[in-house]
Amino acid sequence: MRVLVTGGAGYIGSHTCQALLAAGHEPIVLDSLLYGHEYAIKGLPLEKIDLRANLKPLFLKYKPEAVIHFAGLTYVGESSVEPLNYYDSNVGGALSLLRAIRETEIVPFVFSSTCAIYGNPQYSPLDEKHPKDPLSAYGRTKWMIEQILVDCHRSYGLPFAALRYFNAAGASKLLGEDHTPETHLIPLAIKAALQGGLLKIFGSDYPTPDGTAVRDYIHVEDLSSAHVQALTRCDNLQVNLGVGKGYSVKEIISLVEKVSGKKLQVEKEARRAGDPSSLVANSALAKKLLDWQPRYTIEEIIQTAYEWHRKQYS
Ligand code: UDP
Repeated sequence: MRVLVTGGAGYIGSHTCQALLAAGHEPIVLDSLLYGHEYAIKGLPLEKIDLRANLKPLFLKYKPEAVIHFAGLTYVGESSVEPLNYYDSNVGGALSLLRAIRETEIVPFVFSSTCAIYGNPQYSPLDEKHPKDPLSAYGRTKWMIEQILVDCHRSYGLPFAALRYFNAAGASKLLGEDHTPETHLIPLAIKAALQGGLLKIFGSDYPTPDGTAVRDYIHVEDLSSAHVQALTRCDNLQVNLGVGKGYSVKEIISLVEKVSGKKLQVEKEARRAGDPSSLVANSALAKKLLDWQPRYTIEEIIQTAYEWHRKQYS
């Protein structure tokens, strides 16, 4: 299948391009390269473009048989400082893409959504029926796009799958997490192990067993394989992608210490605005509807991330 992958040069996008190739598909990358890395998509067709441009000519040129849409702004904190940029880029980009599909050919659409659409959990683990009350503009843009997709399904028959990621982490041999600025716990903890420096713990007074926030970390290759599975199962799907087990910030720090053999210097800080205490997925629906299963353990997630970062810093 010829698959247009927006944001294909990013962390999850580039891993998904590799998974598509391995499954015999043909990825074509659309990426502004503002955050993506050209090295991550070597050898693949690339169109360097902002999605808010007129995309119809590209659809006529490539005649994609499916679209996987990753491109967008992803920093929760920044989205509270400059919300208009997030609505413009995320909602505007998705609208432009959907308009090009509407004006050319209706093809399956896989969307990169997030557990941030749920807001503070009213129960755990979170299933797809949980109320949607995002705590940030970032989360609201993702929830809006999901609702736009439902309308496109009803009115145009667009087959779609909105995949609600929990915490993407880990690396493959060639590709890893390479954000600028980096705000995520696992790469920052690994950086502290490899290069020294303080790791901040945001919040030690959460209602969790050790007081630090709990997240469901899922390996980026497990996320990628779910996209490949979703390509042929698009309908009107909204599913969680997580492992179903949560780890606290302190537990992640201990695991990074174990893998690296280094003791981390940590400092307790106030809670980060907009951070829920715990986010753990119920992914039963994705397992059933996508015929998918996450494979990596938390130890493997941290080990693969550590190996990749070690090569970058050496
Ligand atoms: N976190 C932390 N120190 C850091 C970065 C993150 O304590 O330097 C915490 C953060 O507050 C959250 C958890 O680690 O509770 C996971 O954060 P991350 O940014 O990796 O993912 P998020 O859940 O925000 O998408």
